[in-house]
Amino acid sequence: MRRPLVVGNWKMNGFSTDNAVLIKELLALFSDNFFSSPSSNVDSAVCAPAIYLSQLQTLLSDTDVAYGAQDVSVHLNGAYTGEISAAMLADVGCQYVIVGHSERREYHHESNLLVAQKTLVALQSQLTPIVCVGETLEQREAGETLNIIGEQLTEVKTVIGETAFENTVVAYEPVWAIGTGLTATPEQAQEVHAYIRQQLGGAADATNILYGGSVKPDNAEALFGQTDIDGALVGGASLHAKDFFDIIAAA
Ligand code: PEP
Repeated sequence: MRRPLVVGNWKMNGFSTDNAVLIKELLALFSDNFFSSPSSNVDSAVCAPAIYLSQLQTLLSDTDVAYGAQDVSVHLNGAYTGEISAAMLADVGCQYVIVGHSERREYHHESNLLVAQKTLVALQSQLTPIVCVGETLEQREAGETLNIIGEQLTEVKTVIGETAFENTVVAYEPVWAIGTGLTATPEQAQEVHAYIRQQLGGAADATNILYGGSVKPDNAEALFGQTDIDGALVGGASLHAKDFFDIIAAA
């Protein structure tokens, strides 16, 4: 049975003082609105720069808000200067890790195969990988959206196996909608989410499929009203406690 999930992606923003204020405000909103109860119907998490994960371990202990990283090394350990392993993320209490965000695919040339391998190492450390897929504007305009998403998912399926998708979260993030203020219409997003669900085969019912791309309090409800949208991966709006909280409340 799927529970809605809303994940914030702070990207490379904030310092420790900002993080403390943001989490304090968010937790205050939760407790004022009864969302801190474990019986709440929505799961939530924030993905922070790796250097602040230990801070989140302290700030979020004994709360229902989980946390995670924004990337993981494909290597398990050893001479990989600057890299952070899945086991290290688990060691500081991460539950989630984003893999294959379009900014990593674009600026760090991450291939579908590398993203699939990172998904595997995350699973091996009992992390829940949030596997990002999405098309560029050019690809959408060329009518290639579903092919592109299909290729991205097939690589992951080949590496981890279909049933292991149950232990992942898939995030559909049209590249043209990330940080641009442009959002896929609920119908455009639903079309791709339905396709992703179909690609998940036997894991379809158990796997959360999140939408990401300029999700805000004023468009969240319409997106969450779609059959195959199980929540959101939220960038910019997750840096504002009230906006992030309102998106969680809409899920
Ligand atoms: C993201 O970074 O995953 C994202 C969806 O960003 P934004 O909400 O700012 O578009």
